[in-house]
Amino acid sequence: MAADFLSLLTGSFARPAAENPTVAMVEAAYRHHRLNARYVNCEVAPEHLADAVRGARAMGWRGFNCSLPHKVAVVALLDRLAPSAQVIGAVNCVVVEDDGTLTGHNTDGQGFLVALRAVTGVAGARVLVLGAGGAARACAVELALAGAAEVLVANRDAGRGAALTELLADRTPAQARYLPWAGELALPDGVDVLVNATSVGLHPDGDARLAVDLAGLRPTTLVADIIPNPPHTRLLRDADAAGCRTIDGLGMLVNQGVLGIRLWTGLDPDAEVMRAALEQALA
Ligand code: NDP
Repeated sequence: MAADFLSLLTGSFARPAAENPTVAMVEAAYRHHRLNARYVNCEVAPEHLADAVRGARAMGWRGFNCSLPHKVAVVALLDRLAPSAQVIGAVNCVVVEDDGTLTGHNTDGQGFLVALRAVTGVAGARVLVLGAGGAARACAVELALAGAAEVLVANRDAGRGAALTELLADRTPAQARYLPWAGELALPDGVDVLVNATSVGLHPDGDARLAVDLAGLRPTTLVADIIPNPPHTRLLRDADAAGCRTIDGLGMLVNQGVLGIRLWTGLDPDAEVMRAALEQALA
């Protein structure tokens, strides 16, 4: 077989980038599947994003992830958006097509959905999303597009909470309602899926407590936390104690990586290999 010293190139543009473990997970998959491919973790300042995107295209990259603070700004640099990225208004995964044009996807919310669907159905569900930032927006839109009957959004900042609720009501088939969140949030009745999409619980504040009264938590509620580090958050520990099924934030992170690799290479990577690499990187 002829030698091939030219790798398929992918990567990430973010700032800060040093603590982003995605490279460990994606390159573990590339190695496992013996793919001659690399994932380059790049620190890119906002004023250099357009140059970085042009550079990726010029160097024949197959695609890249955009993380904070570029997920909204990158949209203006792309040729087209996948349908859910259009609704969300943010992109975390870009594909450089064969003709050099750029397609933006949002695999954050889709990754969350894949992790959730492994344990429960979404159609007809009543969902409570805590938070209304970028990640909450991605998860809430995907849940609503996947057939959740009602999406309740609780957020401290009323403007952001109401904006997400309006987006869901206008652009998805789901019912949507904003729940004001000042002091201790009381859980509404009949919630099938509770999602923490705030940044509460993220390292180094792993033991931080959400201002939510969990006394009303029923074992029938599935509790999901999107905090990837540490994966076993205080919310998930409390939910375990209440007899609920839980899913952690590593599932979302792994599955958005799976979707990215699939979009860039056509390969269906082994999610278990990726999760193990991620757990090792975060240990
Ligand atoms: P944003 O800054 O856009 O949003 C932060 C959200 O958290 C806001 O809704 C904010 O509310 C809320 N919040 C912050 N502090 C508190 C608090 N003390 N009590 C209640 N609400 C609070 O961040 P992102 O949406 O981009 O990210 C949120 C989290 O999601 C991060 O921790 C990130 O690690 C995680 N994430 C995980 C991914 C995964 O693959 N597992 C992927 C992407 C993100 P307010 O508007 O009132 O300020």
